[in-house]
Amino acid sequence: MDTDLAARLADVDARIADAARAAGRDAAEITRIVVTKFHPATLVQDLFDLGVRDVGENRQQELSAKAAVFAENRALRWHFIGQAQANKARAIRAAASVVHSIDRPRIADAFETAGEADAATLDVLLQVNLTTDPGRGGVAPDELESLAAHTAACRTLRVRGVMAVAPLDEAPAAAFERLRGYADRVRTVVPDANWISAGMTADFAEAIAVGATHLRIGSAITGPRPPRD
Ligand SMILES: *Cc1c(COP(=O)(O)O)cnc(C)c1O
Repeated sequence: MDTDLAARLADVDARIADAARAAGRDAAEITRIVVTKFHPATLVQDLFDLGVRDVGENRQQELSAKAAVFAENRALRWHFIGQAQANKARAIRAAASVVHSIDRPRIADAFETAGEADAATLDVLLQVNLTTDPGRGGVAPDELESLAAHTAACRTLRVRGVMAVAPLDEAPAAAFERLRGYADRVRTVVPDANWISAGMTADFAEAIAVGATHLRIGSAITGPRPPRD
């Protein structure tokens, strides 16, 4: 067992607890997802042995390969946090418990079609673009309610809330404050969609302050990512 990994995980969890306390929140209502992208499946096993149950991946192939290693492990939940492509929806759906990156009607439709043979519904989040750069991914805020209505009408999808990545050129606290407003707007369409997926290594305390329910933390826990081949 990697004692550094255990120490980093404990340190991050202590910082989450501190940020929750400072915000008057209960840390038990916050799900800490460990982003394991680029790292081998052995790291996921080490994390599982340390009690981690929620892990995140941003590419379909890597998600599918690692999830296959843990196919017998019903306790581990895989979160897909990357940009989704319609032709990968079936493979993502087969592996993931939650998809954080629904950002256009066509992607919602692809996941819906992929799930028609399934009994279970898929939890999904609507990814919102907090920048003015369309290349950054996420739905433009003025299209959010219509995307929420479209996705909520998909029988096999359950809209749980919103997801966002902080912009590079703005203080995360200000951007996440907008995200909280977008989460409220989604709840005018889907009243119980109360998840907010926000906060990474550099900004999870700011995300907790605005009410994030799901943190996506990679390098602070895993250490630096190995280079991608
Ligand atoms: C990689 C990634 C993260 C984690 O990033 P860190 O800075 O390593 O914590 C979170 N969210 C998304 C969408 C990512 O791609």
